[in-house]
Amino acid sequence: MSSLSFADLGLDAGLVTTLDSLEIREPTPIQEQAIPLILEGIDLVGLSQTGSGKTAAFGLPLIQRLEVKERFPQALIICPTRELAVQVGEALTDFAKSKPGLRGATLYGGAAMDKQVRDLKGGAQVIVGTPGRVLDHLKRGTLKPGNIQYVVLDEADRMLDMGFRDEMEAMLEQLPEERQTLFFSATMNKQVERLIKKYGNEPQKVEFKRDIRTADTVAQGFYDLRWPSKREVICRLLELETPRLTIVFCNTKKTVDECSEALQEQGFPADRIHGDMNQPMRERVMKRFRDGQISILIATDVAARGLDIDNVDLVINFDLPSDPEDYVHRIGRTGRAGRTGRAAVSSVRAARPN
Ligand code: AMP
Repeated sequence: MSSLSFADLGLDAGLVTTLDSLEIREPTPIQEQAIPLILEGIDLVGLSQTGSGKTAAFGLPLIQRLEVKERFPQALIICPTRELAVQVGEALTDFAKSKPGLRGATLYGGAAMDKQVRDLKGGAQVIVGTPGRVLDHLKRGTLKPGNIQYVVLDEADRMLDMGFRDEMEAMLEQLPEERQTLFFSATMNKQVERLIKKYGNEPQKVEFKRDIRTADTVAQGFYDLRWPSKREVICRLLELETPRLTIVFCNTKKTVDECSEALQEQGFPADRIHGDMNQPMRERVMKRFRDGQISILIATDVAARGLDIDNVDLVINFDLPSDPEDYVHRIGRTGRAGRTGRAAVSSVRAARPN
């Protein structure tokens, strides 16, 4: 944590008081570096993981700079998934308590258009959304881009991985050239660099060593298992460790279904989330998990990407992810913002029978 306060970074007293009420008192490293630069209006590339406090890093200075009296879109924040968009929208609502009159609209697919259109017509200044749905609103003319001055691409690498490049470019092409663009990404690659070069204005890079916060606060264990004993061992692990909230990651939707059924049969309060479920179903499960009605969430990577759930104390990798980045993201669900957490990995020696 930092020796500087949020006020030292240039945030106004109202925001500092709101943060204090949320028990956010010391800036994280990314906040310390990014907030003053964003307040100055500089374009930024932030290399950081979820759990580093990046939502506040871009959200707080933007909230400070938005004009409450102007009732049209001023800031556009693009996220890869519906869950992340909802979560960012909620975080910004929490941060904006000291600015009554600041309104938001969260635009994502799988949800009714009319509420989103109402929010836009109601004068929302902060728009958070997924690429497909934001583009849809731009095409329909329900989202008017002419006064957008701030753009945030949250998890830019993942959006490109998910195949949103065309949508992102089509969107960025419609925005005013005079704007501040903030790119956040967990990793850098050629595609991300290309996007930054094309749409950034000499951005300043703010970089953090990969996942220091997660690695420092998460104890990790490894179990080398044969396929048939996997479910049994996971049940034993859940009994022995008695975690309050656990996320079990699987590589496929099929395994998510099988694993959650197996745990439910054993009487565990478990439920699942994956990409084949519609948005209301996913939101219901997430709410039950956040409220503690279920304590075990079985999920695929895409569904769980970026979920901000506090106090997850155990992450189980039912399957080893094929991409090391996914492993880092998975275990980043625990040990967040200085808390401690645990992660367990299981591998299979024998191939899974068909
Ligand atoms: P994020 O990386 O934006 O997903 O944030 C991860 C979590 O850390 C969220 O629950 C934030 O509310 C929390 N958080 C953000 N900044 C701070 C901070 N400076 N001190 C403590 N918690 C924070």
